[in-house]
Amino acid sequence: MATVTAENSNLVKFSDRLKHGRALAEDVWSIYNAANLPADCINLGQGYMNFAPPEWVTNAAKEALGVVAANHYSHPKGRIRLRQALKKVYDPQLKRNLDVEKEILVTSGANEGQYAVFTAFLEPGDEVIMFEPFFDQYLASVTFNGGIPVYVPLHPPANATGQFSSEEWKINPDELRSAITPRTKMIIVNTPHNPVGKVFTRAELEIIAALAKEHNLLVMSDEVYDTLVFDGKEHVRIATLPGMWDRTVTVGSAGKSFAATGWRVGWLFGPEYIIKPTLAATTRIVFCSNSPLQEAAAAGLEQVQERKFFETQTAEYAERRAVLTSCFDSLGLPYTNPEGSYFILLDVSRVKFPDDYPFPPSVLGRGRDFKACWFIAIEIGVSSIPVSEFYCIEHANIGEVYARFAFCKDLDTLMHASERLEKLKQYIV
Ligand code: GLN
Repeated sequence: MATVTAENSNLVKFSDRLKHGRALAEDVWSIYNAANLPADCINLGQGYMNFAPPEWVTNAAKEALGVVAANHYSHPKGRIRLRQALKKVYDPQLKRNLDVEKEILVTSGANEGQYAVFTAFLEPGDEVIMFEPFFDQYLASVTFNGGIPVYVPLHPPANATGQFSSEEWKINPDELRSAITPRTKMIIVNTPHNPVGKVFTRAELEIIAALAKEHNLLVMSDEVYDTLVFDGKEHVRIATLPGMWDRTVTVGSAGKSFAATGWRVGWLFGPEYIIKPTLAATTRIVFCSNSPLQEAAAAGLEQVQERKFFETQTAEYAERRAVLTSCFDSLGLPYTNPEGSYFILLDVSRVKFPDDYPFPPSVLGRGRDFKACWFIAIEIGVSSIPVSEFYCIEHANIGEVYARFAFCKDLDTLMHASERLEKLKQYIV
């Protein structure tokens, strides 16, 4: 008898909402998970740090565990201490006097917050515009909620050699305009951008804002890397552009801000009529976020200004970025120098590997970049993420030129990784 699988079962059919191309495929985070790679492989793949959150933040977490109430449910809006701390930090940045009861929502990581926005606002068949490449989670989160993703390209510079700035990945305003239809409900903006590292300029955001206003669209602005912007580049929040607060939900994350990606504490800001339906959704998805780590995130935000924490942290990340960029300069391959976030895209199209290399089944049948990343992980000992995962199936060939390397690691690890990556030279043709 044939094995019953999720795909062929007549008895228990899974929902059509899970039938977009990759929904049941193993995702890159699982394939390139440290657990699947040799133990001594240096992980520059999935974007998480190999260093601890600041001690004064983890101490606050430990302290919270000692407080009975902090071990129990929070209000679904989030703990009041965290909402007040968010107000303190974000009021000046959003140029608002945020209402902690109506305009701030704590979520179980930024992903869950965004999922809740889709649940709250999408009708079946609503179109959601995203710039491609896009953080892979958007695709599934949109389609699981009945939405239809519509892709607008971010164009890399033609014929790049060596280093080029993430700024050179450009949107074409005409392509954005022509992607809008009567079914368009929402545009997702991601700045600083994962995986490109692009920090959208004010002029680019003004173009997006004008179209959102003209066509009455909701904007979801994923700004989880907002504390990681380099070289004095201005991080513009689209919610602060004229008339845009009214139609924007801004997304943030403790994971990126405090090196605590596993804490799953994120937040949303927006007008009451965006936050209230989203609160209804998040209340049914998770009820509330974990309490002790909300207290710790609050303690973190309360102290960032006096400790100049984000300024120091950004400078440390700039140093980390420099270790990898000098390694890539020496390899002589084209790569994007990111203005924000902690990712570098390296063009691996000239890295050659044998066709009959023993690739695992999860990698076969995917883009060339899946093989290149696997080969580099095994032969060189440094893992990365294949970028075609950040493209829809139809456009995957555009992304398969790149491997994404994360530099949210301590300097020693990055230097060690660079030494290993030097050995890539023997495979470059
Ligand atoms: N945001 C992180 C990255 O891009 C991790 C995403 C995830 O594991 N879902 O690496």
